[in-house]
Amino acid sequence: MQESAQRRPRPEETRAWESLVAAARRTVADGLVVGTSGNVSVRVGDTVLVTPSGVPYDRLAPADLTGVALDGRQVLGTLVPTSELPLHLAVYRATDAGAVVHTHAVHATAVSTLVEELPLVHYMAAALGGPVRVAPYATYGTDELAAHVLRALDGRSGCLLRNHGTVTHGATLDQAYDRTAQLEWMCRLWLTAASVPGRTPALLTEEQVAEVGQRLRGYGQRP
Ligand SMILES: [Zn+2]
Repeated sequence: MQESAQRRPRPEETRAWESLVAAARRTVADGLVVGTSGNVSVRVGDTVLVTPSGVPYDRLAPADLTGVALDGRQVLGTLVPTSELPLHLAVYRATDAGAVVHTHAVHATAVSTLVEELPLVHYMAAALGGPVRVAPYATYGTDELAAHVLRALDGRSGCLLRNHGTVTHGATLDQAYDRTAQLEWMCRLWLTAASVPGRTPALLTEEQVAEVGQRLRGYGQRP
């Protein structure tokens, strides 16, 4: 248990906690997570609010607000932070992410057992920065897994974790959440197309996906 004296949450942290709890509940409602698996975090300044370990999301209350500094030191709350804290913190230290979502979404996890990279079945791969990589397996909660994930995320806002699940990040909780939903949808799409007997899905080229990436960033718009 954390015994150290802690500061009180700031108003913006209290508001961010409400959004975090809502996003965490949405991962369950949308079927991306079962029970207490998966976790969500959001960065407020130099503090990272994270879902606590092992508490069902429908029981999370304002008083359960859990926050850590970027070095992992707990600065808010008394509940133990998610066991995947090293992964979340590694993403914040290496990127400009404002939020991180980790799930065990079933189609994405199925794909993580089959390929090294999600085949380019749809141009929405561009919304994640290009072909989505699969990070090699390592035990959950370890620095080794966090390191694998960082490598798989290079130039991407999402990746798969082999035999485990998904990680996405975004500027906001909504963006990180939407990227998880898109990733799960693309994995489901590929599994559906790839499961037709005797047929192989047509794939896009990296160039075709990169062209969409430019469009998504607002290139080529007329005034
Ligand atoms: Zn997990």
